[in-house]
Amino acid sequence: MRIGVLCLQGAFIEHIHMLGSLGAESFEIRQKSDLARSFDGLIIPGGESTVIGKLLGDLGMMDDVRNMITDGMPVFGTCAGLILLARHIENDPHVYLGTMDISARRNAYGRQLGSFACTADMKGIGEIPMTFIRAPYIEKVSGNAETLSVVDGHIVAAREGNQLVTAFHPELTGDTRVHEYFLKMIKH
Ligand code: GLN
Repeated sequence: MRIGVLCLQGAFIEHIHMLGSLGAESFEIRQKSDLARSFDGLIIPGGESTVIGKLLGDLGMMDDVRNMITDGMPVFGTCAGLILLARHIENDPHVYLGTMDISARRNAYGRQLGSFACTADMKGIGEIPMTFIRAPYIEKVSGNAETLSVVDGHIVAAREGNQLVTAFHPELTGDTRVHEYFLKMIKH
């Protein structure tokens, strides 16, 4: 199994390390030609959604990535990755990939409270540590999208078929279970 990690900006190295610790092969997607390689799953990391979104457009990768996902490529978006996958962003006029039936709110916890850690339950996994960094949350899931975790009344993880998103950064904790969940999603 090989996972492509979108490495345009943000916290991609941590995903690569975590995949390595699980014995999964990964490679860096930095340009359009990298999308032509064969791979079984895609990770879109946290970072700055506006920057990653602009680069996806400038590098001519936006449509290819979107088509890949709508064709069924398993994808895992963390934080900014969640924003890029959302069909609607409450406080931003942009839609980037827009493949997932969720409505996201960027920097939803405000500037001062934007970064915090907690533990909470994630459906299908159990209690896990969660690290939030200027995080979004999901205002609303619609259609086939399903809520997987709620923290303080806000949705912080969801799944819709081949798409998994977390508002927090599992790659910044020592707990590998969310990545294992994603690898299992790919196998099924
Ligand atoms: N605040 C960032 C954004 O709006 C997301 C932060 C993150 O990915 N840690 O894109």
